[in-house]
Amino acid sequence: MSLLVVGSVALDSVETPFGKAENALGGSAVYISMAASYFAAPVRVVAVVGGDFPKKYVRLLEERAIDLDGLKVVDHAKTFRWGGRYHYDLNVRDSLYTELNAFEHFDPVIPEGYRKSSYVCLGNIHPALQRKVLGQIDGPRLVIGDTMNYWIENTADELQKTLKVMDVLIVNDSEARLLTREPNLVKAAKAIIAMGPTIVIIKKGEHGALLVTKETIFSAPAYPLETIYDPTGAGDSFAGGFAGWLAKTDDLSPENLKRAVIYGSSLASFCVERFSVERLRDLTFLEIKDRYRSFMSLSHFDDGV
Ligand code: AMP
Repeated sequence: MSLLVVGSVALDSVETPFGKAENALGGSAVYISMAASYFAAPVRVVAVVGGDFPKKYVRLLEERAIDLDGLKVVDHAKTFRWGGRYHYDLNVRDSLYTELNAFEHFDPVIPEGYRKSSYVCLGNIHPALQRKVLGQIDGPRLVIGDTMNYWIENTADELQKTLKVMDVLIVNDSEARLLTREPNLVKAAKAIIAMGPTIVIIKKGEHGALLVTKETIFSAPAYPLETIYDPTGAGDSFAGGFAGWLAKTDDLSPENLKRAVIYGSSLASFCVERFSVERLRDLTFLEIKDRYRSFMSLSHFDDGV
């Protein structure tokens, strides 16, 4: 099944205790679509870049068979740039700068050929724009969305309207607490379900992820990696793996949702092994399946009898 991805395409400059990358390919739409490209076909991107966006990055995305008909190039503008620095504790990051550039006036127009997309993954953009995208799609089968502290704090009413038309919300633990003013994550997830989405995923960084629906609670571990080079994009790669698996299988049963969470976790764990999208470029399905199986053994135990 087709998957439509909307979000940022960025040039990231990132520093971690293990090295740095300048003007590397990043942005939510990039991580989501690259992770999803191992499962779903076609993966379609709607985003905006400036005239300075390097051709080599366009080729890199095309090598993953990502459909870029919806990538708008604004010749006179620069591409969105983000700079971040991670602390020794990689869970802590400072945003050094955010230069919106061409992204400032991003007005997503969905190309005619994308309007029948079955699965939609809305990266972290203004909630009113997320709704504008959905208004241009003919009855999507599943709408998956992300948001962040900034929108929760500054556009609360718009976000509430958007939550009503989202099927799945993927947020991290601090965002879930901020959105619901509820410290307990299970209660927070239930409070989000009362706002609209029927499926809530709360990411807890190195502590894994929680999937909550009205009927199910599933707790997935994070993969215990020994070397993490760059955590940028882990959350978006999770969303891409999750959305991609669902679009590939077109099965929304509780058991398949759990599989999607583990595929999301697998793609996130690959993402952080290198800077930028380096590790997401040329994975094999066998490597992904191997990691999926490692997740199975990681949390398998018997009843002790
Ligand atoms: P994550 O590590 O999953 O939070 O995603 C990091 C990615 O989000 C980076 O590649 C950035 O380019 C992108 N990003 C950072 N700030 C913003 C923003 N305000 N809007 C959209 N994308 C952003």
